[in-house]
Amino acid sequence: MVVAIDGPAGAGKSTVARAVARALGFTYLDSGAMYRAAALALLERGGSASEAAEAADIRLGERVLLDGRDVTAEIRRPEVTEAASKVATNPKVRSALVRKQRELLSSGNWVAEGRDIGTVVAPEAVVKVFLTASPEERARRRAEELGVDVETVRRDQALRDAQDSAREHSPLRPAPGAVQLDTTGMSVGEVVAGIVELVERGR
Ligand code: C5P
Repeated sequence: MVVAIDGPAGAGKSTVARAVARALGFTYLDSGAMYRAAALALLERGGSASEAAEAADIRLGERVLLDGRDVTAEIRRPEVTEAASKVATNPKVRSALVRKQRELLSSGNWVAEGRDIGTVVAPEAVVKVFLTASPEERARRRAEELGVDVETVRRDQALRDAQDSAREHSPLRPAPGAVQLDTTGMSVGEVVAGIVELVERGR
């Protein structure tokens, strides 16, 4: 079964999704890491974005592997973050990565996190959550995590939000039936407990 957690950057998806997976004994799927790895493959090799995404052997787990190389840290670099948001607008890249994600999700129990898990990748998910938080809180969390200036994060975040929501293919939207959860002022523990309860009720 699949628990889908979508939402904008900085809403706390990764921290929450990881913790929910741990609490339930499910496997965590970070779909953003796939877009990041595909973007890195493109930056390094050039060519067309869809060919790069198609050819890239992306393995997710404790570490993110691209063609057998550990790229866990590299895919978090700002230029890769920006490139990921850009390649994510390409419908061919999306369909190649969605296919890989669906393959993974087809067996076992998962907590999958991203932008389009509830809308496109796994609309059959038993529980769909759309996590949000105020732009200020999201920027503050990201800045703390990355150890950089809040104002710069807020600007980059606004740009990425606009790009993710306005793109023609699979724009960031709450899925039909998704529970919308505004995490502003909530602790990670509270958010995780809320989602675990939804799953327990849903199964
Ligand atoms: O979640 P994360 O910030 O790592 O994702 C990087 C980028 O990949 C996002 O800005 C978004 O453009 C894209 N993405 C996406 N669909 C997903 C996950 C990520 O378009 N399911």
